Amino acid sequence: MKSTERKDRKINLYLSLLLPFGIAAFAWSVWHFPVHQINSSLIVLSIFTVFFSSYLRIQLPRTKIHLTVSDALIFLSLLTYGGEVAVLLAILETAFTSLNLRRQGVAIKYKTIVINVLIAAVSGLVTAIVVQTVFGTPDKIVAGFGSTSFLLALTVMALSQFLLNSISVAAFVSVMSESTMWKVWYENCLNALVLYVSGAAVAGVSAWALTQINFALFAAVTGFFALIYMTYSRYVNDVKTAAALAEEAERTRADESENHILELKQYVSELEKSGEALRISREKFRYAAYHDALTGLPNRNYFIGTLEDLLEKRKRGPEHTFALVFLDLNRFRTINDSLGHSMGDHLIRRVAKRLSAMTGEGDLIGHFGGDEFAFILHGVGDAGSATAFAEQVVKGIAEPFRFKSRHVYTSVSVGIALCGLEHSKAQEILRDADMAMYHAKDNGERYCIFDKEMHTSAVSQQQMETDLRYAIVCNELEIFYQPIIDLDKMFLSGFEALVRWNHPRRGLMSPTDFIPLSEETGLVIPMTLQILRSACNQIVDWQSRIPDSKSMYVSVNLSGKHFGHDALVEQIQTILDETKIDPSCLKLEITEGVVMENAENAISMLQQIRGLGVRLSVDDFGTGYSSLSYLHRFPLDTLKVDRSFVTMMEDGGENAEIVHTIISLAQTLKLSVIAEGIENIFQLNQLRILGCEYGQGYLFSRPVPVAEIEKMLVDKFRWTNILTPSIHGVPSTTSDYSQLSISQ
Ligand code: C2E
Ligand code: MG
Ligand code: MG
Repeated sequence: MKSTERKDRKINLYLSLLLPFGIAAFAWSVWHFPVHQINSSLIVLSIFTVFFSSYLRIQLPRTKIHLTVSDALIFLSLLTYGGEVAVLLAILETAFTSLNLRRQGVAIKYKTIVINVLIAAVSGLVTAIVVQTVFGTPDKIVAGFGSTSFLLALTVMALSQFLLNSISVAAFVSVMSESTMWKVWYENCLNALVLYVSGAAVAGVSAWALTQINFALFAAVTGFFALIYMTYSRYVNDVKTAAALAEEAERTRADESENHILELKQYVSELEKSGEALRISREKFRYAAYHDALTGLPNRNYFIGTLEDLLEKRKRGPEHTFALVFLDLNRFRTINDSLGHSMGDHLIRRVAKRLSAMTGEGDLIGHFGGDEFAFILHGVGDAGSATAFAEQVVKGIAEPFRFKSRHVYTSVSVGIALCGLEHSKAQEILRDADMAMYHAKDNGERYCIFDKEMHTSAVSQQQMETDLRYAIVCNELEIFYQPIIDLDKMFLSGFEALVRWNHPRRGLMSPTDFIPLSEETGLVIPMTLQILRSACNQIVDWQSRIPDSKSMYVSVNLSGKHFGHDALVEQIQTILDETKIDPSCLKLEITEGVVMENAENAISMLQQIRGLGVRLSVDDFGTGYSSLSYLHRFPLDTLKVDRSFVTMMEDGGENAEIVHTIISLAQTLKLSVIAEGIENIFQLNQLRILGCEYGQGYLFSRPVPVAEIEKMLVDKFRWTNILTPSIHGVPSTTSDYSQLSISQ
């Protein structure tokens, strides 16, 4: 059997038990109803009790108890009109109130309403019988107002009504809720005692007041109770409002703390998230700091860290040896310039891939940026294994790289440094491998193993660089001048300025010992400007001081590195302005190789220099494979025949022919010719016969300091003596005259 059916059966049983008693109570009340007592007071009391009393209710704070005046009024009717009236009013009031509640939407069944009405009838009847039996008729009870029996009557009335009502209700509720009757009574009904006690008290006082037929007293009592009611009602409302506010505040606080907890949770989760993001970005940064972005290979920093560890290990024993192999692509800049940087990047990635494939197990490959790569070969301590690996790398990279329809060829220069006990820092072994690589590159070798001499020479180069820098600043450079002779009239026509370095430790140094270094370091530019300025000043000085020197000119050598420099024309102009030299008295010498290297650019640069009024010579002509198609486009003044051809003229073979050709070419191009390196009378006479206009060489004078030149300036025709009067040029022996010239 289902629980609802069981419940229904219980309720029906309860109802059927109650029903006869209820009907009996109703019948008894109707039967004995005191019709003679019906008056306006009873009618007012009845209407008020049935229809309005339930509205005057106050809920006791923090309880489920509603104090209504209905109980007080029913007690009042009992004390005033007797039990029959009270029973009937109780029945009607309960029925009306229950139906009203149902109408207001409270879920209350009709069966429940009937039960409520029956309980009210039975409890009302029993209470009336008990009170009237024990304490007599109502007027008797009220007459004893204030006496012990009066109070006892009220107490019994209240208790009887309370017990009957509460027990019946508890019994019904326990049936409905399947909870024990005692529990229901204790938890829900016990508190209602106050309802009945207060009702009885109010009823007692009111009934007594009514018997006094004293309207003033009744009004005072009614007013008193109304005041109490209002005050209490207000108090209850205040308490309710305060409780509601407190509840609201509590709820708000609860909401706030809930929100706070939520916010905290969110904050913690955001913290966790940002902590995670921080960790990831830290890892990314770490990765980026130790890897190359283009190839993804370990970078220089990574290598330094690894090398430091390996050098530490190496101290424990020779078995922990290793080799560092350093390489870069040859002429990678040309690839970048010709095919574009994006293609250059592609090539680097492909090279990285190919090199990675060659890396042995446990070895490390890295990309140091640009076109530089490095390997660490673990356990390799001998030159043989290292060079075998280098050979493999050189061969591997020499294979073409295919890019769609294009094949790109490249090559590498490899430097090897074997780890030795002399290496204590990563930078040292890196430096050695780098040095070896540059050594290989400079010498056109595929690979090179570092040795100590390289280091020594690098150190001395470094020292030289420092010294040269100092020399430029402190004017340690000196200019020697070598006369240029008019070979027809045999008189002085000008000078070539040739730099010398008076090195404090090494003595007088030839330009061939330091010009290459100055070009590598860029020092050639300030150095040339210094020489140019001094030479111009010197010529202006001689021209102003020494008679018949107005047409004297100076020829200054210009390095290829400086020739390609954007600011060159402006720099020359500045010096011309500063020194006030007649520009036609300045000649600049550029070697043939430099002019031909980038002919189109050279033409533009030469034109600009020529535009300043300065004259131009091609130095060392014959060694630079001049293209004749270009030569006639260069705005030149002079060709200087390289010394090597002049020196070999004595053989009478093809060198003399070359010199002859150059002279003819110059004549065709309307250029003057200077033969360099004339050391003997034979060469001089040959050149004169070939129609060479000017000459320069030890036969006339070595490059000499300023003081020596001043002597020559006052004796410009001193070289006519070289020629014998008879044939004016062909000596009997060459050695006599070379001896003569050298002694000058
Ligand atoms: P260069 O311009 O061809 O200068 C001629 C070189 O030949 C000079 O050598 C000179 O001393 C030498 N010489 C002249 N006559 C004879 C001779 O009869 N026999 C022999 N054996 N040699 C002779 P130097 O002074 O040692 O200069 C060498 C090179 O250094 C110059 O060749 C030039 O290219 C460069 N140079 C010299 N001074 C400067 C300078 O101020 N600036 C630049 N950029 N280069 C310079
Ligand atoms: Mg020269
Ligand atoms: Mg020369």
